Amino acid sequence: MTNNGIQLTEEDITGIKVDAIVNAANNSLRGGGGVDGAIHRSAGPELLAECRTLGGCPTGEARITRGYNLPAAWVIHTVGPVWHGGTQGEPGLLARCYRSCFSLAQEHGVRNIAFPAISTGVYSYPKEEAARIAVQEARRALAENKTLAKILFVCFNQATKLAYQKALAEF
Ligand code: ADP
Repeated sequence: MTNNGIQLTEEDITGIKVDAIVNAANNSLRGGGGVDGAIHRSAGPELLAECRTLGGCPTGEARITRGYNLPAAWVIHTVGPVWHGGTQGEPGLLARCYRSCFSLAQEHGVRNIAFPAISTGVYSYPKEEAARIAVQEARRALAENKTLAKILFVCFNQATKLAYQKALAEF
C-alpha cells in the first residue's frame, strides 16, 4: 500500500479549494460548533437553508450539499460516532462515515476532497485510532475510484498531525 494521493495539510478546511470538503456534522445537520460552525459561517446562510431540507442524517451516513460561498463546490456532511470507550460500534461507524463520503464523492465526480479528523473533537474519538481508520478507508477509495485523485487530511492541531503521520507510516 502506498500513500500516493493522500496529503496532510494544516490549513483551515473552509479555505481549501477542492471539489468537496467534508463536514463533521451532527444528526440534526443544523450546524454546531467546531468545524461544523466554521463551515456554516464561511458558506453563508444558504447552506443551512439547504441542510434544513434534508431531514437530518443518521450516524455513519452522509449527505451532500452545495458549497455556496466556500471555495469548495460541494460539502459532504457526515455524522461521526461519539466515543463511548470503543464498545458501542464506534470503529465500524467511523469507517462507515468515510465510506459514505467516498460513495457520494464518486457519484458527484469529485476528484479531490478534504476531510477534517471526524469525531476527534467534541466527540472525543482517540486521534490515533481515528487516523488509522481514515487512512485505511482513503487507500481503499483511491484504489476503487479512478476519478478520485487527491485526499487531503486537515490536521488542525499538532496531535492530529502526529496521529496521521503515524497512521501513514504504519502500513
Ligand atoms: P466532532 O464533533 O466530529 O468531534 P469537531 O468539529 O469537534 O467534530 O472536531 C473535528 C476535528 O475538526 C477536530 O480535529 C478539530 O480540531 C477540527 N477542526 C475544528 N475546526 C476546524 C477547521 N476550521 N478546519 C479544519 N478542522 C477543524
